[in-house]
Amino acid sequence: MAIDFSVEPEFQKQIDWVENLVTEDIEPLDQFMSVGTDKHGKALDADGWDAIRAYIKELQQRVRDQGLWGFHLGPDLGGPGLGQVKLCLLNEKLGRTSMGPTIFGCQAPDTGNMELIAHNGTEEQKEKYLQPLLRGEIRSAYSMTEPHAGGPEEFKCSAVRDGDEWVINGEKWYTSNGAAADFLIVMAITDPDKPMLEKASMFIVDSDLQGVEIVRNVHNLGTPLKENYDTSRGRGGHAYMRYNNVRVPASALLGDEGAGFVGSQTRLSGGRIHHAMRAVGVCTKALDMACERALSRRARGDRLADLQMVQADLADSYIQLKQFRLHVLYTAWMIDDIGSYTREIRKEIASIKISAAKVNHDIIYRAIHLHGALGMSNETALGSMWMSAPQMGIMDGSTEVHKANLAKLMLRDYEPSDDLFPTYHLPKLIAKAQDKFSKIVENYHAA
Ligand SMILES: Cc1cc2nc3c(=O)[nH]c(=O)nc-3n(C[C@H](O)[C@H](O)[C@H](O)COP(=O)(O)OP(=O)(O)OC[C@H]3O[C@@H](n4cnc5c(N)ncnc54)[C@H](O)[C@@H]3O)c2cc1C
Repeated sequence: MAIDFSVEPEFQKQIDWVENLVTEDIEPLDQFMSVGTDKHGKALDADGWDAIRAYIKELQQRVRDQGLWGFHLGPDLGGPGLGQVKLCLLNEKLGRTSMGPTIFGCQAPDTGNMELIAHNGTEEQKEKYLQPLLRGEIRSAYSMTEPHAGGPEEFKCSAVRDGDEWVINGEKWYTSNGAAADFLIVMAITDPDKPMLEKASMFIVDSDLQGVEIVRNVHNLGTPLKENYDTSRGRGGHAYMRYNNVRVPASALLGDEGAGFVGSQTRLSGGRIHHAMRAVGVCTKALDMACERALSRRARGDRLADLQMVQADLADSYIQLKQFRLHVLYTAWMIDDIGSYTREIRKEIASIKISAAKVNHDIIYRAIHLHGALGMSNETALGSMWMSAPQMGIMDGSTEVHKANLAKLMLRDYEPSDDLFPTYHLPKLIAKAQDKFSKIVENYHAA
């Protein structure tokens, strides 16, 4: 028996170091960046933002000095090779912040793109794109979803071979970081007549190539619509992209021709568990806030904490969070143990992807509700958490798609009954048991 929930003291020191950096430096950075003004309401000028960028670089250097830069990576890619369980314990601290992943060199969508190039890229692609991405010198995007379809069956964006080049045409939607990326990994149909899983290929497309167009720089709910029309370089957001006769060299093909959809699963499986790890951090923060508020706020002479329905809500959040966290850790442990995305692991990843959406929704909703009008205001972090909660059920595939996949994977462990009634139908089981016990009774009397 080797089930052990303890953390090695040496690694606990790393976790404590991360927690300290998060509370002392990264959360204040998030808070400052959300307004970008000084105490007198004066907005930061260009020099001021240069100072903030330099400060971010300094924090990143501290992370490097601690040996935690790119902590999701193996030593072959310059990371510490911690494995998924340790990654969980660190990511749940970073989940409390927006800037945390950038400070630690593990921000989406770059992390998934690093994995894709590391697994599928040529030496030349690794040198040109992966290495500077790992060092945090450039940014990337992943351009797969289309405006008319989230599912690959309907994708239209195509790449056609023309001599030594491929010509890409089509539209992509919700390309995170599309406006800030130095290059984009674009999924395009290369052979529409092939079976579904062999139709598409991935290409590395430099963002400054002729024909790469940002139609709008779409943002999540909560951001004013006018921001979508600011398509200037370097902006965050989820770009609506158009590829107009974009010519890339044959060497831009990432992985084998026709292996795009299969290759994308490598990227998405890892990304899904990392999102779940950070969701633990978000929910822990929401529950921490709810507990402090319950102890501080009074209603009709009692503390909120003394009201039974408030207690019930806090207990429900605690239980949901604990169960979710253990499931994420268990999935991480399985990945470390088995080392590849087997069917058993895909089952668990689908499960935590599904529950991340529900747990986020429920715990943040209860925390907002408990805060009353303060919860509805934009003066706590709960507002931005709430705005982001539904995305957990949509990005990297909707909850329904994952539930359908999970059910299919689960059902492979079962056989149909070959009888009119199921194998567990009691009259059948009782008849069998009666046969067994009649013999036992007979033998007893005969002895
Ligand atoms: C924050 C965020 C970041 C993203 N970043 C990227 C990115 O960087 N690159 C990228 O390419 N894409 C990105 N996406 C897009 C994301 O991958 C898609 O939104 C997702 O795959 C769902 O596709 P869709 O939006 O077209 O929804 P649709 O496929 O239109 O689905 C809409 C709804 O229909 C229902 N539905 C769909 N299929 C089924 C089914 N099989 N069974 C039952 N019900 C179903 C579900 O309720 C679903 O929510 C991002 C999305 C978000 C929210």
